[in-house]
Amino acid sequence: MSSIFHAFTLTAAPVSLEEGLKILERDNHRCQYCGLDGNASFENALAMSVDFVMPRARKGKKDPANLVACCRTCNLIKGTRVYKNFEDAKAFVLSRRAQLRKNWEAKQKATAKV
Ligand SMILES: [Zn+2]
Repeated sequence: MSSIFHAFTLTAAPVSLEEGLKILERDNHRCQYCGLDGNASFENALAMSVDFVMPRARKGKKDPANLVACCRTCNLIKGTRVYKNFEDAKAFVLSRRAQLRKNWEAKQKATAKV
């Protein structure tokens, strides 16, 4: 697990390996937005990263209170927009995921009928 995370932090590195692992351990390797379990499989482990609730680009601090375990999909959906707080960000990410799922399911049904 640590070696996977290491490979990731070497390329993307807003937090150090040690800082990142502390956050992942605190959050039980679970995405704090969608609940993806980073310990459930190798693929899930690869998807885990650490999110700045208030983005660095908006002067978000590298403080454990501003960092959460997050899968890369939620991280991408969350983007760099500004949220009031973590709950606000979570609500946005989850509603966007629900919308994407709906679109995907509709598309799957449409192709299945052909
Ligand atoms: Zn997630």
